[in-house]
Amino acid sequence: MPTETDQQAAAATDVLSDGRWDRVGVLLPLALFQPYDYLVPAEINLVRGDFVTVPLGRRHVTGVVWGAALGDVDPAKLKPVAARLGMPPLPAISCDFIDWVAQYCMAPVGAVLRMAMSVPDAFLPERALKAWALGDPAAAKATPTRQRVLDVLRDQPPLPPTELARAAGVSVGVIAEMGRVGLLRAETLALPRPFGTPDAAMLGPTLSSAQGDAASTLAELQPGVTLIDGVTGSGKTEVYFEAIAATLRAGRQALVLVPEIALTPQWLTRFERRFGALPAQWHSELTGLARRLTWRGVLDGSAKVVVGARSALFLPYRDLGLVIVDEEHESAFKQEEGVIYQARDMAVVRGHLAKIPVVLASATPSLETLVNVETGRYRALHLPDRHGGATLPAIHLIDLRRDKPARQSWIAPSLRAELEQTLAAGEQALLFLNRRGYAPLTLCRTCGHRLQCPRCTAWLVEHRFHQKLMCHHCGFEAPMPPACPACQSEASFAACGPGVERLAEEAAALFPEARRLVLTSDTVTGPAKAEALMKMVAEREVDLVIGTQIIAKGHNFPHLTLVGVIDADLGLHGGDLRAAERTYQLMSQVAGRAGRGEKPGRVFLQTYDPDRAVMRALKSGARDAFMAAEAEDRREAGMPPFGRLAALILSGRDEAAVTARARDLARSAPHRDGVTVLGPAPAPMALLRGRHRIRFLLKTRRDIAPQAVLRAWLKGQKFPGDLRLQIDIDPYSFM
Ligand code: ADP
Ligand code: ZN
Ligand code: ZN
Repeated sequence: MPTETDQQAAAATDVLSDGRWDRVGVLLPLALFQPYDYLVPAEINLVRGDFVTVPLGRRHVTGVVWGAALGDVDPAKLKPVAARLGMPPLPAISCDFIDWVAQYCMAPVGAVLRMAMSVPDAFLPERALKAWALGDPAAAKATPTRQRVLDVLRDQPPLPPTELARAAGVSVGVIAEMGRVGLLRAETLALPRPFGTPDAAMLGPTLSSAQGDAASTLAELQPGVTLIDGVTGSGKTEVYFEAIAATLRAGRQALVLVPEIALTPQWLTRFERRFGALPAQWHSELTGLARRLTWRGVLDGSAKVVVGARSALFLPYRDLGLVIVDEEHESAFKQEEGVIYQARDMAVVRGHLAKIPVVLASATPSLETLVNVETGRYRALHLPDRHGGATLPAIHLIDLRRDKPARQSWIAPSLRAELEQTLAAGEQALLFLNRRGYAPLTLCRTCGHRLQCPRCTAWLVEHRFHQKLMCHHCGFEAPMPPACPACQSEASFAACGPGVERLAEEAAALFPEARRLVLTSDTVTGPAKAEALMKMVAEREVDLVIGTQIIAKGHNFPHLTLVGVIDADLGLHGGDLRAAERTYQLMSQVAGRAGRGEKPGRVFLQTYDPDRAVMRALKSGARDAFMAAEAEDRREAGMPPFGRLAALILSGRDEAAVTARARDLARSAPHRDGVTVLGPAPAPMALLRGRHRIRFLLKTRRDIAPQAVLRAWLKGQKFPGDLRLQIDIDPYSFM
C-alpha cells in the first residue's frame, strides 16, 4: 500500500494561485514527467483541470491545465495556449489521483493522464444525428413511392435517412429529394447514449437476514474500505447493489470494477432487473462512438453507474461516491504494461482521496486484504451461506500417483467413473484445464529438438483448432513445420502433455455420446459468442464442458453437478510468492461452478501432491487457517504485505549491452538497513519479444518506501539506445 510520504509528494505539486494565471503548466497525455509551461492569452481565463489545445512542435495537442507554470523556461520562449475546450474541467480529485498514481508507480504523469484521456474523439464537438420528420404535406405531389415514406413516418419519431429509406423500401435519393421540396423536415437528434439512467427506487429481491445486515451497513456509505467476504453464490452482488442504490439516492456516481472476463451478460441482466436500465460499460470491446459518449457522460455526470475493467478507474468522474471492486483477489487487476499499477490498490487510494467508501468483494479475498482486515484497516462483512440453501460442493482429491491415468491420457480412472455416473444421470459435468492449445510442448522423437519461440524463452504451443503453433507470450504464430528443423526427420513430432484441446480429444473418445463443448479463448471469441455458448450450457444443450479459466468466473450453471480439475498443481510451479494463494483462489472459483442449482455438486482435484497445505485446505475448506499460515510465511520472509517489493527489469535487443548496463547499475545499488537488492539475474523469461531481460528485485521494510530508494538509486542514470528500465512497484509477475 502507498505511504504517507508518497502522498505528500503528490500534494506538493498541487500549486494553485489566486487570480488569473498569465502562465500555466499544461500536462500533455504523453510520456512526460512534468507539465510544460504555456502563456495564457488575455481573453482566456483558465483553472486547474481545464482541457486546452496547445502547440507542441508543429502540431496541436489536447492537454490539461495542471497548475501554475513551473517557471523553468525563459518566458520569452513560451508559446500561448491555443484554445480552451468547451467542456467541464477534469475534476480536481482526478488531477490529484493522476499525480498520486504517477508518484506511487513511478510512471510519467503524462502517461497516467493519457489513461484518463484515452478517447481521442472525446474532445470533438458533440455530434448530432440528422433525422427526417413529416414536413408540409402540401409542399409537393406525393407519388406512391413518396407516400410510402410518409406512411412510415406517420406513427414514428423522426428517423435518420438510411433507416427511413430502409423502412420505406426507397432509395436515400428519394428521401433527399423529399427534403428538398419540403415534404420532409430535417431535425437533429442527440446521439443515443450507450447507457441508461438506473433507478434506485426499483425494488430488489428480498434479502436474507445476513444479506440485509451487510446491505444496511454498506448503505450508510461511510468512507473507508469494506470487504464483503462470502462464498460463491452467497449473494454478494445483491448486497453491493444496495450500496449502489444508496449512492444513486445521494445523487452521486458509482463505479464497479470487475476483471474484464467477469463482465458477463448475466451480470448486466441482473443490474438491469434491479435498476431498470443498463449501466455505462467500459472495456476493450467498446466501439469508438460508445467510448466517446461514455467518457463524456462520466465527465458531465449523466453516466451514473459505470461497470468496467481496471482502466475505468481513470475515467473523469464528475462526482464519484462509491467504488466497488468485485473479485478483488483477481490478478487481472494488475496492469503489466505501460503504466504498471494494481487497480484494486489504486481504487482504495481513489476512495481515500475522495473520502468515499470502497467495497471489495470476493469469495477468496487476497492475502493483502485479509491482513488489512486483521489489523483493522478494513472492515469485513460476512456472508457464510449460499443463497437459497444451496450447499457448497464437496471437494475431493485424486492422488495421481496411485490413481494413474492410462499412458497419454489425463483423466484418472476414478474421475472417469464419476463422469460416467454423472452423465448417465443426465447431469452436467465440467472438466477444467487451465492450458490453451493441444499440447504445451512439441518435440522431435528423433533428435529431441523442442519447438521454441524465436523471440521468447518459451515453447511454441500447438493449437489444432487453428492449425498452427503459437507463442502465448508474444503472439508469434507459425504453421507446424513439415519436418524437424534440427534433424529434418519427417513425422517425428510428439506432443508432450495436455492442453485443453487434447483433453477434449480424450473426452470425446471416452464419452462419444455426450454433447461436448470446448470453452477457451480460441472458441469464445467475444462477448456475443460468450453469451451464446454460456446460454447453451445453462439451457442444458451440453452435457460435458471442457474449458480453461474462461469458465471459472461469474457464470452460473444451474445443472452442473460435477467438476473435474485435470491438473490442480499447474499453478504451483515457479517461484511466485502468491502461487499457493492463487491456486486456492482459482480452485475455489472453479469448484464454485458446481451445485448452484438444486442438486449438490462434487468436485475432484487431480494432484500429485495431495499432502501439500493448499490441497489439504481445499479439501477441508479451511481457508482462513490456510491463509493465516501463508501470511505467517510471508511475515517471516519480510514479503508483502509485511515488506515491500519493487521489480526492475532492464531489457534490450543486444544481450551484451543489457548485461553490461545491469552490472553497472548493480554497482550503485543501495546499501542500507531494511533494504535488500536481489539480482541482477536473467529473468525466468530471459528473452521476450526479442528483448533480453535482466531483473533486480528491491525488497524493503514496510516503513521504507521503495520509491524513495529507487529515486535515489536511479537519479541521473541513463539508458541509451534501446535499453529500457521498467519499474514494477508491488510486482505480481516474477517472470
Ligand atoms: P455471489 O456474487 O456471492 O457469487 P450472487 O449475488 O451472484 O452471489 O448470487 C447467487 C445467486 O443467488 C444469483 O443467481 C442471485 O440472483 C441469487 N440471489 C442472491 N441473493 C438473492 C435474494 N436475496 N433473493 C433472490 N435471489 C438471490
Ligand atoms: Zn514469443
Ligand atoms: Zn529432430
